[in-house]
Amino acid sequence: MTASPPASNPSHRILEKLLAGNQRYVTGNLVHHHQSGSRMRAIAAGQHPFAIILGCADSRVPPEIIFDQGLGDLFVIRVAGNILDDAILGSIEYAVEELGTALVLVLGHERCGAVAATVKHAEVVGHISTLINAIQPAVDKAKNKPGDLLDNAVRANIELVVAQLKSSMPVADLVLKNKLTVVGAQYNLKCGSVDLIAEPLCS
Ligand SMILES: [Zn+2]
Repeated sequence: MTASPPASNPSHRILEKLLAGNQRYVTGNLVHHHQSGSRMRAIAAGQHPFAIILGCADSRVPPEIIFDQGLGDLFVIRVAGNILDDAILGSIEYAVEELGTALVLVLGHERCGAVAATVKHAEVVGHISTLINAIQPAVDKAKNKPGDLLDNAVRANIELVVAQLKSSMPVADLVLKNKLTVVGAQYNLKCGSVDLIAEPLCS
C-alpha cells in the first residue's frame, strides 16, 4: 500500500513535508506551527500554500490537523467521497496557476461513508445521488478483486480521482510540464497514518 515518492519527482520535498507532519501527528509530537497571530498577519496580504489536499468532508480527517500544518500551508478542498466536479477542478486550477502550488494529494480514508453508501446501493434522496454516481465506477472496478469490497472500493475511488485529474485539461498539461504532481493517499482512521498509493500498473 505504501509507496515512496520517486526521488526525481520535483514534488518529492512537498510530499516529504506532508508525511513528516503526519508522522508528528501519529507519534503525538505536534509542533502546531503557523497557528499564531503573527502568522495570521504575515499571510494577510497573500497566500502560497505548498500543497493542495482534495479530501473527504468526513469530520475525522481534517488535513491541517493530520498533517500538523497551520495557516496558509494547505489549500484544502473537502467533499464527501473526495470526488471531482467542475467547481473542484476550478479550485485546483486556481491554486496551481495563481498561487503556484505544485502538488495535489487526493486523500481518501478507511470506511468512507460515501463509498460505503455506494457499495451498499443505499437508497438516497436529494443531491446525495451526485456523490453515488461519481463513486460508482470505482465500486464497479473493485467488485471482482479479492479482499474486502469497501477497502478495495475506497482505494479504487482514490485511484479513479487521481486518473480523472490527470486526464482533465488543463491539469493534464500542467502535469506534463512538471508544474504539477498528482498523488493519491489513504488515511487510516485507527492509527492516524497517511499511506501513499502507488500508481496502478494499468487502469
Ligand atoms: Zn469519507
